[in-house]
Amino acid sequence: MKKITHFFITVTFFAAFVSACGTSQKTTVNHQVNGAHPTLYATLYQQFAAEYKALCYQAYSLADLRLKQALEKNYDKPLAIILDIDETVLDNIPYQAAAIKGDFGYPVQWAEWMEKADAEPLAGVVSFLQKASDLGVEIFYVSNRKETFKEATIRNLKDKQLPFADNDHVLLRQSSTEKESRRALIKEKFEVIMLVGDNLGDFDAIFEVTDATKRMNNTIENKNLFGDRWIVLPNAAYGSWVDALPGYNQNLPPQALSDTLKAHLKGF
Ligand SMILES: [Mg+2]
Repeated sequence: MKKITHFFITVTFFAAFVSACGTSQKTTVNHQVNGAHPTLYATLYQQFAAEYKALCYQAYSLADLRLKQALEKNYDKPLAIILDIDETVLDNIPYQAAAIKGDFGYPVQWAEWMEKADAEPLAGVVSFLQKASDLGVEIFYVSNRKETFKEATIRNLKDKQLPFADNDHVLLRQSSTEKESRRALIKEKFEVIMLVGDNLGDFDAIFEVTDATKRMNNTIENKNLFGDRWIVLPNAAYGSWVDALPGYNQNLPPQALSDTLKAHLKGF
């Protein structure tokens, strides 16, 4: 318990990485207090827990089932699936692991990581998307990676055998991190049968709110869509879930941030 307590007392979130992956409208925390990194457990979980890999397989197995069911219906438009990229299709946790080990944060070495274009696909995603593609469904990647990394992103997706890795199907961040306008462009021409992501903003604009309670309430109100048209991947390392806790306040000093986060803990 002592180690866990220390873990929570120590605040070193890496919101800049969150920004880089673009899961959040605003980012919050990139401070370090007392040494140990609070994303250490989450980073290790996503790199070493067989349970994490099992969850990824589970998500794409469910996606496969929903695809099969969707194809039994008739549509007026051609079909499409929209996926986020980071922690949905490609695994960026090696960047976070390097940042913890090297005691640096975004943007240090982020461009190098992007240009390396060697992020591995998440478990289950390649076979699922290849199958969808073979069945005539177009794949769109809607990510908040910066446009400057588009060539490297396409190269990475292509090298890992992900279908539709091209200029027309990889829609990166322009002026805004909100994804609804990019999804709307796709929906003009396609029937979007499924959305896949690790951050709720990957599914609907209703989740692009800065209040953690609203995010939770919107999730409960839309519970029937999860596991149906919306397939969620786990990501404990970063995301809007943690940005929302201090209200997307990017300017809190480390101790205040630590206090704010701890104030949200629900004990007994
Ligand atoms: Mg993501």
